[in-house]
Amino acid sequence: MKSQVVLERVTKKYSATTAVEDMSLEVGRGEIFCLLGPSGCGKTTTLRLIAGLEKPDSGRIEIGGVTVAGGGVWVPPEERRVGVVFQDYALFPHMNVFQNVAFGIRNRRGLRRRVQEVLELVGLRGMEKRYPHELSSGQQQRVAIARALAPEPEVILLDEPFSNLDADLRKRIRSDIKKILKDTGITTIFVTHDQEEAFFMAERIGVMRDGRLEQVGTPEQVFHRPSTPFVAQFVGTADFIDGVVRNGRVVTSIGELELNEGFPEGERVRVLIRPDFVDIEEDGEGEGTVVERLFLGTHHLYTILLKGGERVRCLRHRSRPIPAGSKVRVKLGAPARPVVFRTN
Ligand code: ADP
Repeated sequence: MKSQVVLERVTKKYSATTAVEDMSLEVGRGEIFCLLGPSGCGKTTTLRLIAGLEKPDSGRIEIGGVTVAGGGVWVPPEERRVGVVFQDYALFPHMNVFQNVAFGIRNRRGLRRRVQEVLELVGLRGMEKRYPHELSSGQQQRVAIARALAPEPEVILLDEPFSNLDADLRKRIRSDIKKILKDTGITTIFVTHDQEEAFFMAERIGVMRDGRLEQVGTPEQVFHRPSTPFVAQFVGTADFIDGVVRNGRVVTSIGELELNEGFPEGERVRVLIRPDFVDIEEDGEGEGTVVERLFLGTHHLYTILLKGGERVRCLRHRSRPIPAGSKVRVKLGAPARPVVFRTN
């Protein structure tokens, strides 16, 4: 896959804060890529660096094979062929839909046709004369996307694109938007702190923490093979229990797991436990105690206190609930390849 956007060891500081630190990343042509991470980890700053709204302190940025920042080069935002959709959409309130979408189109000759084309794409034909305040928030977002796509950029950047929509609308709109982005084949980088959204939208995800990229991979890779405990916790429910390596297996208080990685005999490790790895059965002699039961509709999420003081959560689909306070036997349904971290 050819790279459309390349960041090479990019750092950006705001006085005392290092917003983005030594970041290297390649996003392929036509790819939908997501930067995922908690608030303040540097996602927006990364988008702003790519768009040219910020200058890196060091490192290099390349778009479409051309250096746009770094090594003495600076290409201003309006020459970068990058479309940006801001979190609040930033539509011009005094302009109607047509004027908003037409705003960035330089080629005035084909303008009317291009506006119609992108409005068709986002499903807003017939709304040309409306003003932003006459549109629903979902429609406003489509206008923002149409406006970003209209000048035929090579890359589109979306900052928390669904955060202003209520939960119901968000689910509907994100599938529409995904389809639009895929249909246009445009390279997309979007930012979210919402793991579910990232998994739904993205082909690859970069998980960020404190200005750094912690891991880059497909949703499956970051979920099943997280490279750090932080990633494991950020992309799903995660508990960790202690283990010791013995004869190519890791021994924990609730069972043994086959290890495929070369950990030395006797090494103390932390084992990632997802709630669907664990099963429980009521048993007065059991080594665990149910300390909490959460009803989640199709299943219950139990928190189990183990003898040694560790806690694991367990997802159970069967209907008969086990009340809090019950003693339970805990069984580990081993994942194919357990995720094991070194204890520091
Ligand atoms: P995110 O998008 O992941 O929430 P940001 O990129 O907005 O994170 O911010 C990363 C860090 O940089 C934060 O600590 C934030 O407070 C700081 N920051 C962002 N923009 C500025 C700015 N213009 N001036 C000073 N600090 C900033």
